[in-house]
Amino acid sequence: MFCHKRGVFGQFLSTGAGIQKISVLTNNATCNKILVCFLGFFMANEHYGVIVVGAGHAGCEAAAAASRMGVNTLLVTHNLDTIGQMSCNPAIGGIGKGHLVKEISAMGGIMPIAADCAAIHKRTLNASKGAAVRATRTQACRHLYKTSIRSQLEAYESLSLFQQPVSDLIIENNQVVGLKTEMGLDLRADCIVLTTGTFLSGKIHIGKTSQVAGRAGDSASISLSDYLRGHDKFRFGRLKTGTPPRIDRKTVNFTGLETQPSCPDTEPFDFWMSPPEVESMDCYLTYTNEKTHEIIRSAMDQSAIFSGNITGSGPRYCPSVEDKVHRFSQQNRHQIFIEPEGIGVNEIYPNGISTSLPYHIQKEMLKTIPGFENAHITRPGYAIEYDYFDPRDLKTHLESRHINRLFFAGQINGTTGYEEAAAQGLLAGINAALIVQGKDTWCPKRSESYLGVLVDDLVKLGTSEPYRMFTSRAEHRLLLREDNADSRLSDKAIELGLLCENKQKIWCDKKEKMRSYQKTISQKSIVPGTDLANAFTQKTTIALSAPAKLAQLLKRPEVEACAIAHLLGDENIHHSALSQICIDLKYEGYIVRQKEEVAKKQKNEQTKIPDSFDYDKVKGLSSEVVEKLKSLRPQTIGSASRISGITPAAISILMVFLKRYTAACI
Ligand code: FAD
Repeated sequence: MFCHKRGVFGQFLSTGAGIQKISVLTNNATCNKILVCFLGFFMANEHYGVIVVGAGHAGCEAAAAASRMGVNTLLVTHNLDTIGQMSCNPAIGGIGKGHLVKEISAMGGIMPIAADCAAIHKRTLNASKGAAVRATRTQACRHLYKTSIRSQLEAYESLSLFQQPVSDLIIENNQVVGLKTEMGLDLRADCIVLTTGTFLSGKIHIGKTSQVAGRAGDSASISLSDYLRGHDKFRFGRLKTGTPPRIDRKTVNFTGLETQPSCPDTEPFDFWMSPPEVESMDCYLTYTNEKTHEIIRSAMDQSAIFSGNITGSGPRYCPSVEDKVHRFSQQNRHQIFIEPEGIGVNEIYPNGISTSLPYHIQKEMLKTIPGFENAHITRPGYAIEYDYFDPRDLKTHLESRHINRLFFAGQINGTTGYEEAAAQGLLAGINAALIVQGKDTWCPKRSESYLGVLVDDLVKLGTSEPYRMFTSRAEHRLLLREDNADSRLSDKAIELGLLCENKQKIWCDKKEKMRSYQKTISQKSIVPGTDLANAFTQKTTIALSAPAKLAQLLKRPEVEACAIAHLLGDENIHHSALSQICIDLKYEGYIVRQKEEVAKKQKNEQTKIPDSFDYDKVKGLSSEVVEKLKSLRPQTIGSASRISGITPAAISILMVFLKRYTAACI
C-alpha cells in the first residue's frame, strides 16, 4: 500500500505556523534536545511514499507530481519561505525552455500555472520564424511566482512540507530507505528524490572575497555534499554560475532607452487554466560600451573567475560580463535587458551583466552605462560554485545506478535553469511514485519531448558545463513544438494519473475539436465568386481563380488559421485546437519525413549486433566508444544507443558497418 496516512502532528508540521512555533523553542540547547525527542517521537512513526529534498524548481515539481499520483509525499527543505525561489532572473521560458514548460503543463505540472499567474511581461520569441522554434518567455513577479507555487503545493492532500536541512541518507542493502536531518531526525520513505540545486558545498565569490552559501542569503549544504562525495561510486565535479547586481529602479534614468513593451496576446504556458489579469510592466534596453570594457579589463585580475579562485566551469552561452569582454574583444558593446523584478518592488534586474568583480568595480562599471549613471546597487552581483553529480550515474528515469530508489533531479545533475530543473523534477517525481506503486518506470523518448532529449543527453553524455536546453538539441524539432505538447504528452499523463478530471475533460474536448476541424479542413472547398470566397479574399487579399480546398489554402505561408476560422461552422472556435491543426498542415511534408525517420530509428533499435562483431574494424568511431562497446558488448543497436557516451552519430556509423558486415556474412 503506497498511501500512508499522515498523523495529526505531520499536518501541524506542514504549516508555516507550526514551523514558526517550533523555531521559538530552539533558542537554547536543552530546548533543542527536547524538540528533537519530541519531533523524533512523532516523525519516527512516519513513513512516506516519497520524500523530496529541496523546494526549488525541481523539488516542487517532483513533490507535486508524486502527490498528484496519490502517493504520500514529504517535501523537506531548508526554509519554507524560499519555496519556489528564483535564484537569478525572475523569467520563465525562452527558446527550448518554453517548450519544457509547455510539456510540464501537458502533464499537469505547477510551474506553468505559477508563470502565468506572475507574468508581468510576455513575449513570443522567434515569432517570425518557423513554428518549431517559436518560444514563449515571460518575466515573472518574483513574489507572485513564489506565492503561486506555495499555494499550489499546499493544496495537495497527500503532500506535507517540512523545514529541516538534510544531512545524510540512510541506505540499507544498497537501497535508500530514509534520511537524517541536521537536528538528528530520521525520516523514512520508499523513494527519495534529491533536488539540492546550487547548495551542495556552494561557495559565493565577489572579487577576492568568498563565502560558503547555497545562494545569496541561504546557507550551503555541506554535510549532505560530504556524504554523497564519500560514496565511492558517485562521480562528481564543480560547476559555476553567476548573477548581476540588482539596481534600485528610482536611480535609473529611462529617458532615451529603448522600451520593450509586453505583448498581451502571448499564449499562456498553461493548457488548462485561463491566466488571471496581471499588471504588465515594460522592459528596456541599454548597452555596455568601450568605457565599461576598459574598467572591466583593468580589473580582470580581481574577478573571481579570472583570478583562479573559481575552478568550476560556467555556462558558455550565458557568460559573465568579464567573460564577454575577454572572449569577444572585437565587440564594442553588449546588450543589457533592464527587467523588472516584480509588482510593488523597486529592484530591477540588468540581464546581461552577471559578474564576480568586486563591488566597487561593479559600481564603477555601471556608471558608464546609459541609464545607470547614478544607479544604486541593492544587491551586488556574484558567482557561485557548487558540486554536481555526474548524470551518467543515473538511469533514464533519473534513479541512481548505484543506490536503488534514490533519484536526482535539477541542478544537482549539472543542468542550469528553472525549466530544466522543473522538467527533471516532474520525471523523477513520476518515477519515484511509480516505483512506490509497484509499476514500471517511464521515460519519454527523444522523439516525444524535450524532456526526453534532456534526460537522454544527460544520462548518456553527461556534461562538463552547466547544461541548458536549446531547440537545436532536438533532432525532431518539428514534432516537438510548444503548441502540440498536449498532443504529445497528455494521454500519457492521464494514464499515469497526473491529470485531474477537469483537465482530462478539457483535453478530450480539445481532441474532439481537432478531429472535427481536421475533417472539415480536408473536405471543405471555397468556390470563387461566393460569399465565402469573398470573405476569404477580404481577410487574406488572395483572389481565388478556381475552387480550392481549405487544406490547400492553409498550406500557403500567408494564410493564417484566423483567415479560415469562420468557415468551420463552429460558433465557439477553439483557437489553440485550430492553430495546432493548421501548423500540422503547413509543415505536413517535413513532419511526415521526421516521423519516417523516427520509425526507421525505432526499427533499428531491434537490429541485432552479432557476438562476433569486430568493433576495431569500424572506421570513424572514437577509441573511447570502441572500448565501451567492446567491454559491454550490447546485443542490439537499441541497447548500444543507451550506453552513456555513445552518441547518435556513433550509432549511425555502427549501423552502416553492421549492414556491410551482415551482407558479407550472407
Ligand atoms: P534550487 O532552485 O537551487 O533549489 C534547491 C533547493 O534545495 C532549495 O530549496 C534549498 O533550500 C534546498 N536544499 C539544498 N540542500 C538541502 C538540504 N541539505 N536539506 C534541505 N534542503 C536543501 N539559471 C538560468 O537559467 N540562468 C541564469 O542566469 C542563472 N543564474 C543563476 C545565478 C545564481 C547565482 C544561481 C544561484 C542560480 C542561477 N541559475 C540560473 C540557476 C537556477 O537558479 C537553477 O538552475 C535552478 O534554480 C535549479 O533548480 P533546482 O530545483 O535544481 O535547485
